[in-house]
Amino acid sequence: MSVLVYVENAEGKFKKSIFEAVSYAKAIADQLNTSLTAVSIGNVAQDELQKLGNYGAAKILNVNQDALKSFINQAYASVIAEAAEKIAASVVVLSNSFSGKGLAPRIAVKLNAGLVDGAISLPELNDGKFIVKKTAFSNKAFAYVELHADKKVISLTPNSYKIVEAGGQAAIEDFAATVKPTDLTALIKDIVRATDKVSLPDAELVVSAGRGLKGPENWAMVEELANLLGAATACSKPVSDADWRPHSEHVGQTGIAISPNLYIAIGISGAIQHLAGVSSSKVIVVINKDPEAPFFKVADYGIVGDAFEIVPKLIEELKSF
Ligand code: FAD
Repeated sequence: MSVLVYVENAEGKFKKSIFEAVSYAKAIADQLNTSLTAVSIGNVAQDELQKLGNYGAAKILNVNQDALKSFINQAYASVIAEAAEKIAASVVVLSNSFSGKGLAPRIAVKLNAGLVDGAISLPELNDGKFIVKKTAFSNKAFAYVELHADKKVISLTPNSYKIVEAGGQAAIEDFAATVKPTDLTALIKDIVRATDKVSLPDAELVVSAGRGLKGPENWAMVEELANLLGAATACSKPVSDADWRPHSEHVGQTGIAISPNLYIAIGISGAIQHLAGVSSSKVIVVINKDPEAPFFKVADYGIVGDAFEIVPKLIEELKSF
């Protein structure tokens, strides 16, 4: 019995959410009194792989094969399931990232495992029970899922578990996985964006704006505020529907669900569908000229006023630091 964590890379580098997943998997391995192995797919330098040892991985299975250069859900799921079988993993952990959302159920099917997607805390292990907490109904409730299967697959919501430095060293082992031609039928080409911007799903700070900003020409102040804070930018659905901002920034029920440490909402009413994707943010700041805007009901801090006056003042203040 052991624990496996899948460590996805972005152009050869691991993001913060991966160190969270490794720390989380290590804590589960400790609960089960076993060791943690990581599986990496793609071309990742040895010194980057070595970082995983610091968060608790004792061993790393390094899969670096030409056929797996591009991300293919089916093929990656097969490789991770094969790695899990190789080390007789009873628990497989991955980040509930964009690719993790597609991988977790596929791995669970391949391993005949129980699945919890979007876990937000460590499993409770009482009297042989294995219970995992996750959010449900668009973050309006918590669900406690009891897994009965011998094997378990858990995907961890980014920003919901702290990174813990264990200070260890990992042994790196090359792993030649079986790549089935049937897994390679849908080849997705990489879309590489030339941008230094903070990626929204992983962002700890998010500055978001809505229709209250009147038009795309007014986003310069949103971007400036985000840059000063080192934050990602986001928007409401009507904003991306109107092509004021790219769809990749749309948060909410039908967009990306995020849980940053700080969410600043500017000129967004706080419709239930918007809140569904952002209400698990740790701190919510709302700037809206309408004191009755529903967003204020869930805000930790609210500023009633005109965004075109308040945001430039915030920027000015931040620049003076
Ligand atoms: P508005 O509702 O128009 O609100 C604009 C706000 O800006 C107002 O509160 C106003 O007081 C304020 N404002 C105006 N001028 C200023 C100013 N100068 N300074 C400060 N404040 C100002 N929406 C999402 O965002 N995400 C989703 O995923 C999503 N999914 C949906 C799914 C379904 C099935 C449906 C039916 C709807 C969905 N919606 C979603 C749409 C949602 O219902 C709202 O219509 C939308 O969130 C409203 O966007 P908004 O707050 O930007 O615009």
